Amino acid sequence: MGCEYLQSCPFYNEKMDIDSGLGKIYRRSYCQGDKTQCARYMIATELGRESVPADLYPNMHDRAEQILNETK
Ligand code: SF4
Repeated sequence: MGCEYLQSCPFYNEKMDIDSGLGKIYRRSYCQGDKTQCARYMIATELGRESVPADLYPNMHDRAEQILNETK
């Protein structure tokens, strides 16, 4: 079990620049853990995948919140 975007998510597929240790932790806690806490996942499910900024990391909750509020 895990996030349904695993296959195509740039973050999960290491296409985003992040310290590899930190990336590993995020992949474990969000992608294979609680995806509902992932900032990218929040945007993707609420607004559609095309609305997820290329440089939004799973832990950027404030920014995700802001994007969601702006589009309401
Ligand atoms: S949990 Fe977030 S970062 Fe991980 S695969 Fe899903 S959308 Fe991507």
